[in-house]
Amino acid sequence: MIIDGKKTAEDLRKDLKRKISELKSTYNAVPGLSVILVGEDPASKIYVKNKAKFAKEVGLNSEVIRYPANLEEKVLLNKIKDLNKNTKVSGILVQLPLPSHIDKKKVIDTIDHAKDVDGFHPMNVGNLSSGYKSNIPCTPLGCSILLKKVEKNLNGKHAVVIGRSNLNGKPMTQLLLKENCTVTITHSKTKDLKAECLRADIIIAAVGIPKLVKGDWVKKGAIVIDVGINKTESGIVGDVDFDEVSKVAKAITPVPGGVGPMTIACLLQNTINCFKRSNI
Ligand code: NAD
Repeated sequence: MIIDGKKTAEDLRKDLKRKISELKSTYNAVPGLSVILVGEDPASKIYVKNKAKFAKEVGLNSEVIRYPANLEEKVLLNKIKDLNKNTKVSGILVQLPLPSHIDKKKVIDTIDHAKDVDGFHPMNVGNLSSGYKSNIPCTPLGCSILLKKVEKNLNGKHAVVIGRSNLNGKPMTQLLLKENCTVTITHSKTKDLKAECLRADIIIAAVGIPKLVKGDWVKKGAIVIDVGINKTESGIVGDVDFDEVSKVAKAITPVPGGVGPMTIACLLQNTINCFKRSNI
């Protein structure tokens, strides 16, 4: 089974569009998303453009606030504080990476955790790991939705997460624990990654190394979710060798067209959730 992230994301956006029009008639207001982009990083510019495009498509009020790369940190923090107070803004996202003179932690800490649609604020990270309600980072959230399309009940499955980033690996681990999986987290210092992968019913690869996971690393019938987006001479590829692994896996996400489209759809969903919570 090829897990179609593009179609799943489309369906989710349709559902969100319907929810937004319901919210509009109930509250006479729609959720608002403010995205801040600092500098000219080409990949960030594409991500932000797509976020704005899909936000508009589903009917969110969205704005992109652009700053030059030499922006003073203080100006950015003050802008975030203004957005925190603005009742029309339900969600705030600061596109990462930031220029090196800006302290990323300070920026994330300044965002009101109730408006932190990326789920990176320590309050959201803590709530997620404690099993409380929180904003969940968009990419792992998208991975969970795709996993659930293959198998509703993940009880007792052995999941191996490759990568321990705050963005992907760590929150993914929490979501899998919530589903009662037994989780192994692997990373750059893991001694025998192939042996770990071979024990997995579920593999989540979030590394950033093209085609790292090979066909003979994967148990027959495993589910493989590929988070990686790697630019190579032959185009964009994932962290999984799709041609090899698709022959042994029960289900696999392609790159592109797998996890990527889900990330933005989940961002829109998080924005709606923030709006709803602030209107209860
Ligand atoms: P990161 O660089 O922050 O983390 C990579 C992780 O991989 C680290 O924890 C590191 O320990 C681990 N690692 C490195 N080499 C390894 C090795 N040889 N064996 C095992 N583990 C190793 O990366 P990230 O931000 O988590 O992103 C990972 C990948 O996911 C990248 O390709 C990125 O472009 C992609 N990504 C995709 C989406 C999406 O929407 N699909 C979103 C974010 C990131």
